[in-house]
Amino acid sequence: TYCPAGRIGDLGVSEILTITARANAMKREGFPVIILGTGEPDFDTPDHIKDAAIEAIRQGQTKYTNLDGSPEMKRAIRDKFRRENGLEFAANEVTAAAGAKQILYNAMMATLDAGDEVIIPTPCWTSYFDIVRIAEGVPVAVPCPGEDGFRLSAAALEAAITPRTRWLLINSPSNPTGSAYSAQDYLPLIEVLHRHPHVWLMVDDMYEHIVYDDFRFVTPLALDPSLKDRCLTVNGVSKAYAMTGWRLGYAGGPAALIAGMAVVQSQSTSCPSSVTQAAAIAALDGPQDVLIPRRASFQKRRDMVVDALNQIDGIFCRRPEGAFYTFASCEGLLGRVTPEGRRIDSDRDFCAWLLESADVAMVPGSAFGLSPYFRISYATSEAELAEALSRIAAACATLR
Ligand code: PLP
Repeated sequence: TYCPAGRIGDLGVSEILTITARANAMKREGFPVIILGTGEPDFDTPDHIKDAAIEAIRQGQTKYTNLDGSPEMKRAIRDKFRRENGLEFAANEVTAAAGAKQILYNAMMATLDAGDEVIIPTPCWTSYFDIVRIAEGVPVAVPCPGEDGFRLSAAALEAAITPRTRWLLINSPSNPTGSAYSAQDYLPLIEVLHRHPHVWLMVDDMYEHIVYDDFRFVTPLALDPSLKDRCLTVNGVSKAYAMTGWRLGYAGGPAALIAGMAVVQSQSTSCPSSVTQAAAIAALDGPQDVLIPRRASFQKRRDMVVDALNQIDGIFCRRPEGAFYTFASCEGLLGRVTPEGRRIDSDRDFCAWLLESADVAMVPGSAFGLSPYFRISYATSEAELAEALSRIAAACATLR
């Protein structure tokens, strides 16, 4: 019989995947399920990106590339950081991998010894905890309540730091809350980091291009270049260019760390797909105006979801600055009873009941480390969203 290694322990596949699988099974049985669970844009990869990949195949770019990105890929990454973030990196200070997820994995594997701590503001993307655990580190969850916009405060950061802290890992805009850190939000955290030079900063900027209204995205290294020798800036093409299936993420950081990450990658995937690198180069180098109508469409849907949720008695939703998620509180519904006589005692109960009775799949906040909340991914058509929101409202109205 299979006996898992200690580093795997009791880790399982993420709750998001489990809920999505269940919703898809219901769909196949004929239920009109609307899935608001998955974290990928419903748009297609832009044509100029697809064409670049097809051309690369035709030209025979179908061999192994340089371990952590071809010279062209690294050039495109460096140009992107310079152009969009004002960050200067040398070729040995950038890396490419099969998704930002692999970047994060490489970084944790390359830096953590057993028992090393990673401070993770929660709620957070579920993978952070498990990547740290697989690397035999200890995720240190710091709760960031909705009243603070789900953002980490300087005092909470200071209190969480110990001699074993290796990293602070921040994601802005955030999955699952959509909250983003402005320069004003980052500066007090950077001040704390200056008092604790052994703590490194990993930032996950995956949703950089999906921000709304007049919010100005900023990455911490641009605010304080003196962090350069201990900051890893992570990004990827999945969310910005609707390229989740292509698998390409990248990062900029200190050369020695980048080299350590390449060692990890050399014994797992050898290099990101050559064809995908050609596509990603086209995405980073190519016209960026393709993002504008998509951003506008996401913003319209965000407003639609937030406005509809806030009209439901018992639900409160903050209007997020970015990403394509809302993270709403269902605290006001706890203790109420369904027409079938079931009591809603938690966000998990609420989401399970909505899936069964209203055919709407959402992910409970508990999956991201904060209850009682639920996450809606609004990367789905306006028609489906409108239908889902009216089902949620109708279902909630039946609670007593
Ligand atoms: N970081 C965050 C915050 C995410 O939400 C995701 C995907 O859901 C990723 C990273 C992973 O992205 P990639 O597709 O590049 O692995």
